[in-house]
Amino acid sequence: MLLSVRDLEAGYGGAHVLRGVSLDVAPGEIVLLLGANGAGKTTTLRAISGVVAARAGSITFDGRLFSGPPEARAARGLGHVPEGRGILAGLTVAENLDLGTVLRKDGAAAVAADRANLLELFPMLKPRLKESAAALSGGQQQMLALARALLARPRLVMLDEPSFGLAPSVVDELLGLVQRLRTEGTTFLMVEQHAAALAIADRAYVLAGGRTVLEAPAAELAGDDRLVRAYLGAH
Ligand code: ATP
Repeated sequence: MLLSVRDLEAGYGGAHVLRGVSLDVAPGEIVLLLGANGAGKTTTLRAISGVVAARAGSITFDGRLFSGPPEARAARGLGHVPEGRGILAGLTVAENLDLGTVLRKDGAAAVAADRANLLELFPMLKPRLKESAAALSGGQQQMLALARALLARPRLVMLDEPSFGLAPSVVDELLGLVQRLRTEGTTFLMVEQHAAALAIADRAYVLAGGRTVLEAPAAELAGDDRLVRAYLGAH
């Protein structure tokens, strides 16, 4: 497994939010994290990336314990596109992309080559490089956030509701990119309520009350109307 989470507990001050989350992500998979509002999906991603401290349980990444501050986990190959995207609106598109490269240790030429490749994959960003990131549409900001995360060459990318606020055609474009990136070797753990995400995912976990209560192949969930109604938007 690339990522293994066992009996994870975490929270905020007196709020005990995660009470036993366990999940696995194998290399090359797209795994979805589903659940009602407040179930703990965002907190799970935050605990994996180290933004929120784990109170109990274990996280292993590539076979070794995953701990320490977010920068240390990013350096081991974790990318996290948070809820709200985390784009710095005061910077240009190019400067936002640069932020994705700060942990790279493989030299300017490799970074420049990756950057050029990514701009082929995200052509909508190319003509906007010198513009303020704030001037981008929501969909373009989501693409920028994903491109920035990819510039760090992560092994696993966590996306927190990337479809939020996007038009259906943009959601399809984004999910298509995720699918393509997977074929090129990136692994994904996604919080995503958009029903279209089931079509590109391999497996899904359902969280309820801070616990994982179900794990199933995405294709099986897609055929379960009750689950789809409970956990996925009918888009
Ligand atoms: P949503 O779809 O609403 O984002 P979620 O499944 O991602 O739901 P979380 O955002 O992980 O859920 O939140 C789980 C619980 O933790 C909620 O009850 C929420 O109110 C609480 N919570 C989230 N962030 C904080 C915080 N910074 N401080 C205190 N409580 C928080």
